Order: sequence, then C-alpha cells, then structure tokens
Amino acid sequence: MKSAKIKILKFIGIFFVAALILLLVAYGILSSGRDANQNSNERVVVFVLDAGDWRIINKMVSEGRLKNLNYLIENGVSGKLQSVYPLFTPPNMASMFTGKLPSKHGIKSHFDYSREDTKNQLYRNMKAKPLWEILRNKNITLDLVGFQEFDYAPRIDGTIVTGFYIIKKVSAYNSYFSDINGEMKFLKYIPDFLLVSKSNGGILQDYSFLENSEAIMKKSNISLNFDTEITHRMIPFVIEKLKNTEKSKKGNAEFSKLISGIETVFHSGISTKFQFELDMMSKEIALDLYKSHKSNIMFVYFAGTDIFAHNYYFNGWHMEDKKNEQRQVYEYYQIIDGYIGEFLMAADENTAFFVVSDHGAQNMTMAQYLYIAPHIPPHTKYGIFIAQGKQIKKGAKIENASITDITPTLLYIYNQPMAEDFDGKVLMDIFKDGYNQGKKTNYIETYELV
Ligand SMILES: [Zn+2]
Repeated sequence: MKSAKIKILKFIGIFFVAALILLLVAYGILSSGRDANQNSNERVVVFVLDAGDWRIINKMVSEGRLKNLNYLIENGVSGKLQSVYPLFTPPNMASMFTGKLPSKHGIKSHFDYSREDTKNQLYRNMKAKPLWEILRNKNITLDLVGFQEFDYAPRIDGTIVTGFYIIKKVSAYNSYFSDINGEMKFLKYIPDFLLVSKSNGGILQDYSFLENSEAIMKKSNISLNFDTEITHRMIPFVIEKLKNTEKSKKGNAEFSKLISGIETVFHSGISTKFQFELDMMSKEIALDLYKSHKSNIMFVYFAGTDIFAHNYYFNGWHMEDKKNEQRQVYEYYQIIDGYIGEFLMAADENTAFFVVSDHGAQNMTMAQYLYIAPHIPPHTKYGIFIAQGKQIKKGAKIENASITDITPTLLYIYNQPMAEDFDGKVLMDIFKDGYNQGKKTNYIETYELV
C-alpha cells in the first residue's frame, strides 16, 4: 500500500514540478550554485532505509546474511529509533530533518485532499527549518540523494538529487513511460536543473549500470514484478481510493489521466524492476558524490526496503507465506547491505555511518488495513538506528532514540548550537567519552528566525 502511495506521490508531484518550471523561469531566480569551503573534515553518511525493521535485520544477521550491517552493529552503537505519528514517511522525514514534531513542522500526511485540488505535503510546505537550511553559510556541506518529498531541488551548500530526477532517468533509460503509457511522456520534458541542485560539481551522468539490473535481480531470485496475494489486495484498494478522490474533484483531466497511467504501470509486469532501478541509481549517484565531492554530510534514501516489505513481508501482515515469497524481502535487504558495503569499501577513517529508518515495516492484518476507518498507516512505530565511526562507541546499545534526534546529533558533531525549540536531543550516549569531553554545547532559542 505504501508502495502504491509512494508511486502516486511521485506521479502527482510531477505536475507540481511542471507548474514550478513556469514560476521559476518567470521570476528569474535560477541563480548559479556556489562553492562552499568546509570547516571540518569529518564526514557522516546517513543511509535512510524506508521502513527498515529490526525484525528483518535481526533474523538475517543471525543467519550471517548481512555482513556490512552486522559490521556496523558490532563496531558501533545500535537500537530502536522511535518514529513520530502519523506513521507515514513524509512526517517522519520532516521530523528527521528538523528535529521537531509534526505539530511544529506541519507535515502530517502524503497529501491534503480538498474538493478542488490535491495538494501535496512536501518539504516546501514545512513550517520548520530543515538541516540543509540550518547549515547554509556554515561551511558544512550536505548532500541529499533520492528523497521523494522534494518537488524541485532547492539551492543548498551541497548537492540535492531529488527522487523525481531518479524516476525521470530510470524511466527514460527504459522508455518505460513512452512504451507503456503515453500519458507519462511529459516526464522527459522536465529539465534536469530543476530536479538537481549542486554547489560543488556535477553528478554522475552515465547510467549504463541499469543494464545489469535484470541480471542482478535474477541472480538474487527476485522477480521483476510485484505479484503476490498482498499485491492483489492492496493495489485495487489504492486505485479505487484514487478514483474516488478524483470523482470528488471538479473535472481535473490531468489527474484522471494520471490514475489511468498509474494503473497501467501497476499492470506493466515490471513494477519491481522499476523500484529496484530507482534504488540502484540512488546508490550509484550517491557513491560517486561521496567519492568525488566529499561533502561533510550525505543522506541517501532507499525506498525499496519499504516496498518489498509491503509486498513480501507476510509476517508483518500476519499472513501465511504459502508460496515462499517472503524470501524476496530478505533478498532485497541483502542487496541494500551490499550497497552499504560499497560505501564502507570507499570510506576513509574520517567517515562515520548512520543507518536509520523512518518507521518499521507493517504490523497489522490486511483486514485492519483495508477496513478500519479512518484509514491508518500499517507501519510500526519503531525504526532502526545504527551509528559507527571513530568517535562512536564500539558494540554498544542505545535506548530512547527518536527520529527527532538525528538533526541535533549531526549538529553536535559539527559543533553547531542546539535550539531550545528542538523536540529532539543529542544522542550523547553514542559517543566515546573522550569525544564528549572536548565539546561544549551552546544553545540558541531557535533556528527559525536566523
Ligand atoms: Zn516510510
């Protein structure tokens, strides 16, 4: 279900992007990027695994299957990461990047539905300052790769490669939307410069690695299409909800076309391959940025962990895995573990790694999901937190970590003041004692007015 919602969010967002092109051109605010001089050589890479869940990771680690995550756990600090309500992705991403609760940042769902229009809840609409704005002009560079909550890439001190850019390139490379669905052709007319912003050099442009995706999937025994009992119960539900929303609107022809488009993609027979390639491209672009531009902080987002869980994690739906399909979610975690391993191989001693999730995988029955009104997200409130690096304790556990703690903790690493209006806290317990002794934490009232 979340998988469907993510796709819908993506497709609907494209229309907002098209509108923005006109606005940006009209107001001539397309300024050039600038270089930032970093004031620290400490680096942190944050892997954000959508719906990353200890139930899955612990089982696989015990079977010796996640060697890179296991390395980070054994050589770092790990524990549960408490999410904020509602347990959707966008509110939790906003809390991760602002250190604040949804009551302050205002992002509470994927969309706001009104009679006239479908308004999306994107970072643009946040009422609190995100990390990339807090760090502006501080000479601490930050990259963001693959996040879907952007409808365009704002200028920051670092690089933003939006989820829309990744969707556009994967689609273009495969001719997905021209072959499958002519209505999606307009994707290719959205200029890249609206979807990527960079202040420190270009991003990877050779996407020929996508040619290997099918072979990798076959080798891992991952099918090219989401096609389980779960898929067949979720997708018609999602499509019907969308069609009902559309009916309540005043003749929005584009939205109608979009729903047919989404339906066609669901029935295309390659829905898994599409998702697989999105994460694969995010990884390749992020790894190239990590190696070539050396920003201080990098967040890399992977959606596949959530989408595979929704389609294959029968335990989470309290369903019987009659056809041995649950193994595919484990296979996918192993793919992501391999991606993390590629960064570990490329890393120097100044890099710390965080692995976090916005919430856990689903933990309710399909009946609860489909029939309880009002509709509630199926995810659990506990995500994952792992940190490893030279300043981080080795082999320790942490309790009471929250998604709102990520931004304060990163600011602490870079000697930036805490804001009194943060709901999150610095995760002091993850650091070695000597590291904390050398630090003095200053407080400011808020970052909102600065
Ligand atoms: Zn999520």
